[in-house]
Amino acid sequence: MERRKFLSTVGLGAVAMAIPAELLATPIFDFSIDENGEFKGHEFPELPYAYDALEPYIDKMTMEIHYDRHHRGYYNKYLAAIEGTDHESTPLSQLFSKVSKLPAGIRNNGGGYYNHTLFWKNMSPDKTEPSAKLKKAIEDSFGSWEKFREDFNNAAGTRFGSGWAWLVMDANKKLFVGSTPNQDNPLMDVSELRGTPLLALDVWEHAYYLKYQNKRPDYISAFWNVINWDEVNLRFEKALTL
Ligand code: MN
Repeated sequence: MERRKFLSTVGLGAVAMAIPAELLATPIFDFSIDENGEFKGHEFPELPYAYDALEPYIDKMTMEIHYDRHHRGYYNKYLAAIEGTDHESTPLSQLFSKVSKLPAGIRNNGGGYYNHTLFWKNMSPDKTEPSAKLKKAIEDSFGSWEKFREDFNNAAGTRFGSGWAWLVMDANKKLFVGSTPNQDNPLMDVSELRGTPLLALDVWEHAYYLKYQNKRPDYISAFWNVINWDEVNLRFEKALTL
């Protein structure tokens, strides 16, 4: 198949191949387990920087409300949803891989708990750069860095209503961008976009409305200034070994 045609075929909305949950048994992608893949319990994560650290791109009040109310709310509701069930000691990635068969409270709140933990970590006030290896993989997958940026922005900008934009690696080590609705994520069996999450962007209005109001594209462009490429590089390297 001609390259350009192929790229457009695998573009936005493509179904990346699912990665079995047991292969994700690494704390970088499932922070409810330890290095041996054993369940270690759930913990509300610390924010890796101060509330105002990402100013002016993400404002202090949004960070405070988003982390301390929204994220904590998902976490608490998740604990309530699994309390007294067989899922109390099940790693997140295992539940996500069969989430279609589980109550909506686990899908929505487990997703909210997981996605935000990933999201805080893939942002930083420090200036970081994608590694040469990641850049090359992105160019190979998308054609160019600019095309990747465009596709990611498009995925984030066109997600109707609430959801997330993602960069993921599929089982063939190919990179994709796409989006998921609500608090779904690429580890969930219900998701159209499946794979290992390397980069997450929250596009719920609560993530940007105080500063950007209805201007979601401005928030998406601002996000590029605070991406923690050190973390994305790490996830990329780890995903290559899965
Ligand atoms: Mn959020």
